Amino acid sequence: MKDDISSILKGWGEPAYRIKQVEDARRTGIRSWEDVTTLPKDLREKLSEVVPLWTVTPDAVAESTDGTLKWRLRTHDGLAIESVLIKHARGRRTLCVSSQAGCALGCKFCATGTMGPGRDLTSREISDQAYLANDAAREADARVSNVVFMGMGEPLQNTAAVFDAVREIHSPEGLGISARQIAISTAGWVPGIDEMMDFEVPVRLALSLHAADDATRSQLMPVNNRWPIANVLSACRRYGDRTGRRVFIEYLLLEEINDSVADAKRLAELLRDGRFHVNLIEYNATGGPYRGSPQERRRRFAEELERAGLYPSMRRSRGADIAAACGQLANSPA
Ligand code: SF4
Repeated sequence: MKDDISSILKGWGEPAYRIKQVEDARRTGIRSWEDVTTLPKDLREKLSEVVPLWTVTPDAVAESTDGTLKWRLRTHDGLAIESVLIKHARGRRTLCVSSQAGCALGCKFCATGTMGPGRDLTSREISDQAYLANDAAREADARVSNVVFMGMGEPLQNTAAVFDAVREIHSPEGLGISARQIAISTAGWVPGIDEMMDFEVPVRLALSLHAADDATRSQLMPVNNRWPIANVLSACRRYGDRTGRRVFIEYLLLEEINDSVADAKRLAELLRDGRFHVNLIEYNATGGPYRGSPQERRRRFAEELERAGLYPSMRRSRGADIAAACGQLANSPA
């Protein structure tokens, strides 16, 4: 449970077991203060006036044919955000959380980018996405095993809240998710990469690169005009030097845009010091001008990287039929 409820209860001089009662109520899926009947009525009323039991409320849910779940959630000021829970074998689930409502970075292939800037989410609005998803997973005898900050927004523009939410999700009192199973993905917000070096929870850092030359990357991702490829990769190398961790490079394959053999050679050259791991991602159409790379071109691209000693993973598209896949989150009706 988040600190603000605990600190309010402590500040009011309530005994420690009250905090536990609230934690238990949240864990059992109780949604409103009124229903936390383990607390005295007057305390419930007092709490409901100062702090919500949950900061986000499920508004709609959709289920994909592959078992992926997508929620549209409402914040207390009425903003809509989305979280996606991806199903894996043996009861494991990966949760993709949002860190902002909307996004100012305007990547051209991304549905969220078309929404424009919203606001930063609070740490509780982020961690509550994880608690709600874990409740749903538990109903299917599963659990959230991985959390990725790849939903709506640029997480490294909102580091204070994102880091706090990670602390909560990682802590044994929270969801106890291992740091290695948490990934923060950035479009290349360099000051945030620098801040991550001092973050004490050793989560994974992923960079959405998506092009191997500045002209193409600037066309796809306007943030590249501010921090071109050389700058963002050198920030990743600083991060690697400081933390000893490899950075994951996310590369969305778009037909005839960034998926030629020449692109693969350029990418291999950029990453030739071997301090990165490349994830190739299938593109999901968002109604824009781009098409996903056909299988044959994807195969040739991957082979070229392998020839250069990089062994990329290929990320399969999940939840595309409910607009829950990478690049598709934009509050479409669930
Ligand atoms: S890809 Fe990420 S950073 Fe780019 S517009 Fe979409 S949400 Fe924002």
